[in-house]
Amino acid sequence: MKDIDSILHALPEAISHTFGKGKPADYIPALAEVPRDRFGMAISTVDGQDFIVGDAKESFSIQSISKLFSLSQAMHYAGEKVFERVGVEPSGNPFNSLSQLEFENGIPRNPFINAGALVISDILLEHLKSPKQDFLDHIRRLSGNLDIQYDERVFRSEYDHGQRNAALAYYLKSFNNINHSIAQVLDFYFYQCSLNMSCLDLARASRFLANGGIDPVNDKKVVTPKRARRINSLMMTCGTYDEAGEFAFRVGLPCKSGVGGGIVAVIPGKMSICVWSPELGAKGNSLPGMHALKAFIEKAGISVF
Ligand code: GLU
Repeated sequence: MKDIDSILHALPEAISHTFGKGKPADYIPALAEVPRDRFGMAISTVDGQDFIVGDAKESFSIQSISKLFSLSQAMHYAGEKVFERVGVEPSGNPFNSLSQLEFENGIPRNPFINAGALVISDILLEHLKSPKQDFLDHIRRLSGNLDIQYDERVFRSEYDHGQRNAALAYYLKSFNNINHSIAQVLDFYFYQCSLNMSCLDLARASRFLANGGIDPVNDKKVVTPKRARRINSLMMTCGTYDEAGEFAFRVGLPCKSGVGGGIVAVIPGKMSICVWSPELGAKGNSLPGMHALKAFIEKAGISVF
């Protein structure tokens, strides 16, 4: 695995032309204030090795990457029933779009757009005794980092700027696709978005997706192999907002991004990757992050295809 290390260390230079071309999310001050010159990448292999470069140990707001962990937890508890309430089609619309709900009777297109994640949160509220703590424990266990916390300031800002998510939740409830109170669902959803994690935490936490649903560190089953395959498929088709086609075309890996600038990618059977740079492109995905993933798979010569 010496190659991985040298490829990783050559990446910041290889993608330096992309720095300064994107811009951090600015819908809440806590994200707008993150220094834009950060770049980190971490790789965790299924045989338990870690490789890092740059700011891979610095924590950032995981935002929508949390949708990966809430979906896997919901699939663990509710199995295929999840897909009676959430679809599996790419949306081709922005992540916070309301319009498709009307035409699809309140069934969100997929679990990775906001409407879908709100329904997933509602499902989890049925199964978790102490939802916030249980979700945090799940993430801490997967990443092996007991210090992971949620960011109170980000949580508060999400609330203060959460009108669109509130509208989505009310709208879903009008179709009876939300069972708990709107306040409970929004509170839990914003909490998930506000978690702070590093690239290394996220690469480790998503390693089960590269290993048939099993966490290779303790051999524990997080989800069944079939469900791990399904989550990877959804990442490939729906994981990067309305840029999923571009990602599939250029990177060709299952990916899930967040507006904090992180992107998790999975190479089934081999490794999970997390790259972070707060500089987002027009569709809300990290621009240097996307280029780093593309450069990595080209240099390493590995792909799912
Ligand atoms: N907290 C954001 C929202 O719900 C998530 C943004 C994202 O990373 O997609 O609006």
